Amino acid sequence: MDDMDSRKAPRGVRDILPVESWKWAYVLNTAAGVMTHFGYSEIHLPVFEHTELFTRGVGDATDIVEKEMYTFTDRGGRSLTLRPEATAGMVRASLEHGLCGDLSRGQNGKLWCWGPMFRYERPQKGRYRQFFQIDVECLGLPSPVADVEVIALSAEMFRRLGLKNLEVVVNSVGCPKCRPQYREALISHFTSRKEGLCETCLGRLERNPLRVLDCKKPECSAIANDAPAVYGRLCEECAGHFEEVKAGLTRLNFPYRLDKRLVRGLDYYTKTAYEILSGDLGAQNAVCGGGRYDNLSESIGGPPMAGVGFAAGIDRIVMVMEQQGVSFGEKPRPQVYVVAQDGAGSCPEARNAAQVLTHRLRTKGIAAEQDGGDASHAARSFKAQMKSAGSVGATWACIIGPEELEKKLITVKNLQTGEQAPVPFEDVESHLA
Ligand SMILES: [Zn+2]
Ligand SMILES: [Zn+2]
Repeated sequence: MDDMDSRKAPRGVRDILPVESWKWAYVLNTAAGVMTHFGYSEIHLPVFEHTELFTRGVGDATDIVEKEMYTFTDRGGRSLTLRPEATAGMVRASLEHGLCGDLSRGQNGKLWCWGPMFRYERPQKGRYRQFFQIDVECLGLPSPVADVEVIALSAEMFRRLGLKNLEVVVNSVGCPKCRPQYREALISHFTSRKEGLCETCLGRLERNPLRVLDCKKPECSAIANDAPAVYGRLCEECAGHFEEVKAGLTRLNFPYRLDKRLVRGLDYYTKTAYEILSGDLGAQNAVCGGGRYDNLSESIGGPPMAGVGFAAGIDRIVMVMEQQGVSFGEKPRPQVYVVAQDGAGSCPEARNAAQVLTHRLRTKGIAAEQDGGDASHAARSFKAQMKSAGSVGATWACIIGPEELEKKLITVKNLQTGEQAPVPFEDVESHLA
């Protein structure tokens, strides 16, 4: 048990502070622009769902469901779970509201959302128990065109954000028709080299041999590298789909690499699996991962419904952008700092005029800040206020003192050049360009 300290956030979660949150806003605004250009609509989903949605939709035999879910019983006795991922909720919402294929209501099954996900994992650098994802799903379209669109969307999002050294990696995980044969081939390969596998992989060898393929332990990695590839074992439909996905990526000029060891940890994935890797993240180098999951809808009790999508961690995107020195645009800052020279409380009119001017500038769409004053409502010293104007990064200082009041003027000072000029009170805005 952690030491309980109500002055601190629980273990594994963190506050996204203002020094970072403006970077998040930049990432999300950029993402939203890309979503619009690709025809995806934003949806806001609940952060908790019935536990059963995840046990059925993510799979009982996954680490997520077995060890990592935040599950609780509410006051009505229902078992609820904080979402460990967004796809199951997206599919649930689409089924519940008929979001697929009703184009007359603007519902084309192309959805995106962002928000917190929750997993009880061992906290480590860059990994949190509440983490944030951008999630994109294209529902109801079985065609490989949708797979290519989703991969292209994610790559375009990272391109616009300015990320460098990215690599698209693709694979196919087949379907329930062809996967059993592949599983057999894997089981027989891994069984023949069983003594070299790690404890975890021994445990999942029979149950989920695909997971052995993506084990990161060096001893398993060597054995997985020699494992048979899925290519040549796919059924006609999966093989044709995979060829079309690859051809589409080539047509759109996205270089890609095939990786037979790229499998998704979740049971509902079919056909395409992909990741976009960053050269700057060390071992945990995926900036997004996704694929097709044509069997998810049925596994949660719905009708057959195709789906393909991806999730990208916002914490991680920001981290890579910082590592690569990529610009987050301009940090929001006040354009104007309004300074009241009230001579230690001797000129309350200057203070009042500063308050009026600050509000007026704000309502005209100009970011303005003023001195917070002290406990007696007096303005702080002129020097202290000018210092604040500089440290918040304002471009202009608008100075109001007894002299300005008398002449109905404001002294407008450019803080970069040091130039200043008296300006009629009502004309200030036109001098701030
Ligand atoms: Zn197949
Ligand atoms: Zn292993």
